[in-house]
Amino acid sequence: MKKTLAFLCALLLMLGSIPALGLAEGESTPKYVFLFIGDGMGNPQVTATQYYEGSVANPEAVMPVAAQLSFTDFESLGMVTTYDASSFCPDSASTATSMASGEKTLSGVLNYNVDLSETFKLVTEYAKEAGKKIGVVSSVSVDHATPAAYYAKAQSRNLYYDIAVQGLTGTTVDFLAGGGLLQPTGKEKDKEDAMEIAKQNGWTIANTNEDIRALTATDSRVLAISPVLQESQALVYEIDRVRRVAEGEDILSLADFVTAGIKVLDNENGFFMMCEGGKIDWSCHANDAATSIHETIALSDAVQVALDFAAEHPEDTLIIVTADHETGGMTIGFATTAYETHFNYLTNQKTSYVAFDSVIAALRDSGASFEDALAEIELYYGLTTTPEKDLTLTEAELASLSAAYALSMTAKDQRVIGDAEALLYGGYEPLSMAVSHIINNKAGLSFTSYAHTGLQVPVYARGVGADAFAGLYDNTDIFTKTMDVLALAY
Ligand SMILES: [Zn+2]
Repeated sequence: MKKTLAFLCALLLMLGSIPALGLAEGESTPKYVFLFIGDGMGNPQVTATQYYEGSVANPEAVMPVAAQLSFTDFESLGMVTTYDASSFCPDSASTATSMASGEKTLSGVLNYNVDLSETFKLVTEYAKEAGKKIGVVSSVSVDHATPAAYYAKAQSRNLYYDIAVQGLTGTTVDFLAGGGLLQPTGKEKDKEDAMEIAKQNGWTIANTNEDIRALTATDSRVLAISPVLQESQALVYEIDRVRRVAEGEDILSLADFVTAGIKVLDNENGFFMMCEGGKIDWSCHANDAATSIHETIALSDAVQVALDFAAEHPEDTLIIVTADHETGGMTIGFATTAYETHFNYLTNQKTSYVAFDSVIAALRDSGASFEDALAEIELYYGLTTTPEKDLTLTEAELASLSAAYALSMTAKDQRVIGDAEALLYGGYEPLSMAVSHIINNKAGLSFTSYAHTGLQVPVYARGVGADAFAGLYDNTDIFTKTMDVLALAY
């Protein structure tokens, strides 16, 4: 009887009528898989972006309007726990390890176990063995923790050179794109240039806008690095990119890199592409709400590229959008605004904190007065001393700006930072932080931390196998569910 059953099962499997692991009956495995990771993109970041876009699009609305981002109406909605082996508040290395390999590890570790004695096998390695091409895209440097977790194994996420060399000499990745490399010649600048290693290993290097836009399907692997970078080899913050493009510059967006990746990777066996919005996290570390909202919009735009592709391949595509952890303890609602929110106030902010740090540096270099600083703050944030405006500064807010100004005008190595200053400014440029906190709070937003938090994060899925991603589960199950949907044994 058992033998007959086994024979029947084998026959049915051959006929393709038994669904593969994790698949509903009648569903096939996706040929194309997109995994978008909003670094630091918890529910508050997504919700704030929805309310911001809704407020901007409906200025006369009587009732609050939440706009849909490209992925917020996906049919399959899940939630994941994000803790790692070190903490409930994990880091990007351990959480990306969980999603890439299905295993928990320590904060700071990439695809090694907790005693650093063994490495894990990655979803990208399994997918590659199954014939798919692999893409890894990030808005930050491509050797940073999240992208690295999809092609490298390192006892520390800070081993940037080793990570880059693993990616460039390994066989996993076919398209590596976005930001640059943090240590192309090693920490001591004494190693062979990683770009030379890339060339020796047959990579095509595209590092002009024209070359990146002109990329097509090729047998060569492609390293595509934006020629315009901001801090730490990362793409320009979306809020700054939009302003600079309006001023006439040509700067590629995260979405442009997904477009290029699809062209490079598309082949008859399909592909797996991980795309990270890495600066949602960075802006939330810096408590810069408006900038994080624009980073979330940039990720939403990148997801839209995948949706447009999926519309042409509806039977073959799975899109997953999730986060590694929440950053900043962002929330909607603040002590002084209570039940009021004014998301529209954030449209007055025209700069990221990083770009405004440069404005402050120029003020410091020129010995500018507090009044000069207030003029720049009004120009870039709309905060004003003119009475009875939406963004009129209160006496208390002016006092906090004045204190931050005094510290920001002091040379960095001369500043005395006590506990009070550490709490107020989190190690960032004091005047940028004071301005961010004031405009956030006037809009009815706030942050509780300069670090990551332990909040669960959302998972949105659409397409072939998307049902598997509904429910509440652990981030390691992003790996297992993806493997099951792809019918890969592990
Ligand atoms: Zn972070």
